Formats: sequence, C-alpha cells, structure tokens
Amino acid sequence: MRVLVVEDEPELATRVAAALGDAGFAVDIAADGERADYLVRTEPYDAAVLDLGLPRRDGISLLHAWRERGITLPVLILTARSRWTEKEAGFGAGADDYLTKPFEMGEVVLRMKALVRRSHNVASPEIVCGALRLDTHSGRALLEGEVLDLTAQEWRLLGYLAHHSGQIVSRSELREHVWERDLDPDSNVIDVVVARLRRKIGRERIETLRGRGYRLVATGE
Ligand code: CA
Repeated sequence: MRVLVVEDEPELATRVAAALGDAGFAVDIAADGERADYLVRTEPYDAAVLDLGLPRRDGISLLHAWRERGITLPVLILTARSRWTEKEAGFGAGADDYLTKPFEMGEVVLRMKALVRRSHNVASPEIVCGALRLDTHSGRALLEGEVLDLTAQEWRLLGYLAHHSGQIVSRSELREHVWERDLDPDSNVIDVVVARLRRKIGRERIETLRGRGYRLVATGE
C-alpha cells in the first residue's frame, strides 16, 4: 500500500513517514499544498495523511477539490489544535478520520491501516456466523439481512458467543465476560437471556451442551 504524507514541518513529516514505512507502507511526502495536489492527481495512493495548515494551499481546500473531482482516496487529517471547528470543516470537506497534534506515531499507523482496510472492504469489524451477522462497530446484529431488535444484554451475550462461534462457552465465562461483577451466581438471568435470544435468532443457533455451556453454531449459510 502506498500513502502520501502531506506535512510542512520537516521533522514531523519524516517521523510520520518513517513510522508508516516501518509498518509496511510505501510513503511519499509533500511539504506544501500544491505539491500534494499534483501528487494525488498523478499517483495512485491508497491513503493520505493531510495536515490542514499548509503553505501554498490549505488542507481543507485541497480535500474539497479532491472530493469534487471524485477522488475517493481515504484521508486522515491532522489538526494542530483540538478545535472542533477544524475537525468539523475537515469532515465537511470529506475527511475519513482525524488526529490532533501532538499524537503518537503508533496511532497514525493504526488509523491508516484501518482506513486502507475499510477502503478495500477487508477485515471489516463484522462477524459472520451462518445467516447471522454482527457488526461490532455499529452494534447491530442482522439475521438473513434483517436487523434484529436486541436488548443490551442480548447483544453482549450474542456478541460474546459470536466471538467464540463454534466453541463451547461455559456459563461462568458468560457470567464473567457478559455481566457486571455483581451478578448473583444463582441468578437465572443467563437462561432467561439465552431463551429470549433463541426466540429472536432461532433455537437451533444456540446449542446447549449439558454441564458444559453454550455454543453458537453457523446455520443458514
Ligand atoms: Ca502545518
């Protein structure tokens, strides 16, 4: 993956480029707005880091121009201050994400990876188990394409099972990972929530293994 770092502070540009390079990106640097515009129009970047305060042409106007031209390049903007108006302007112009200076180099890398992944529809935060899909980012569950109306407890339990789909999850594990610490061990809340979930997603999707726990199974693929 090839990325462009648009940043006029040479030391910062070098550090960002080095961090992205270490993470496996091919990196070009543009130190002013006109250069960035030229490179983006002529080179096939997979993503860009864009500082907003730039010589010759500011980041917001660049981003506007790219989006108007139909350039869908994922863009992470860098804002010098944690000012809401700057972020708002950035998103309004078509930014995909932002970071406020100063920031950790590791965070630029993580965010750029995520932007690139998303733009390629790879490794989305979606868990698929047969006809059941859980979007862990938006917090929605779908069965055969229909959004399920789940309570918070149902969502957490289903999410936990889905993260371990095909595996047996014990009741004590559910108690520890799905409920708050103070859940009474004798409470029947797990059975109640499992029963409610089964009514919503189909009995056959949550197996009971007597004395061992539950297992989410993939059916209806
Ligand atoms: Ca700057």
